[in-house]
Amino acid sequence: MIDSQRCITSVGPTVAALMNAPYREATDAPHEELLSLAAEKAGGTIDRAVIYNPDAVAWWLYEKYPEKFLKAGECSDLALRMTSVMPSVTPVCFASMYTGVQPAVHGIQKYEKPVLAQETLFDAFLRAGKTCAIVSTAGDSISKIFLDRQMDYFIYPTVTAVNFKSLSLIKKNAYDLIVIYNGNYDSRMHAKGPESAYALAALDRNVAFYRKMVSTIQKSCGSQHVFYGFCPDHGCHLIDGGRGSHGLDMEEDMNVVHFYGVT
Ligand SMILES: [Zn+2]
Repeated sequence: MIDSQRCITSVGPTVAALMNAPYREATDAPHEELLSLAAEKAGGTIDRAVIYNPDAVAWWLYEKYPEKFLKAGECSDLALRMTSVMPSVTPVCFASMYTGVQPAVHGIQKYEKPVLAQETLFDAFLRAGKTCAIVSTAGDSISKIFLDRQMDYFIYPTVTAVNFKSLSLIKKNAYDLIVIYNGNYDSRMHAKGPESAYALAALDRNVAFYRKMVSTIQKSCGSQHVFYGFCPDHGCHLIDGGRGSHGLDMEEDMNVVHFYGVT
């Protein structure tokens, strides 16, 4: 698996390829394993996509606490180790995930949240006549850097409200692409460390939401094929004072676990 390890810049191009909504500008290539998965399970035709972005879920957490991810694995077809981008901080990484290019190309190269001028997956979808929604928490990167597109933004004060709204949109089959952000693990691991009970409880909640998201997709998709993913942006590590951090070019920050499925 490690030999074929791909960068998070392959996520947007993969979704674009699966749904016939090509980027106009050059990007990383789609992820071959995911294209094969879609071909095998859906004849290559995907009708909708739902991408869940829990913040800061490192690959090492998956290796060290496999039991915490069992339910994510059960409702997915693939678990992949993916490489993040540098600096491994949230707006830089999500900009790369959805533009399909490295930070030097899209321009967000530090912790700042400008609206991206670079073409994103959302722009490619809109040009192809598809509908998109972002469901996220106020002030966070995903709520800001993808603004000013002809799509719907559902921004709430809490993760609970975000997840409730997300399930209701999925039930209605309301959009061709839904992107959902949860920053609860990230904020707790910064405060008390990546392996604190406080942070790990948020990780449990993220996996539980993903499972619920997948079961909701499966119940509501009818004969449509849906591509879904659990796609964190970067990892994390313990620092002095029992707190957590990320942003460095180190194994713990640069490798994340992604889960994908097709129904
Ligand atoms: Zn982050």
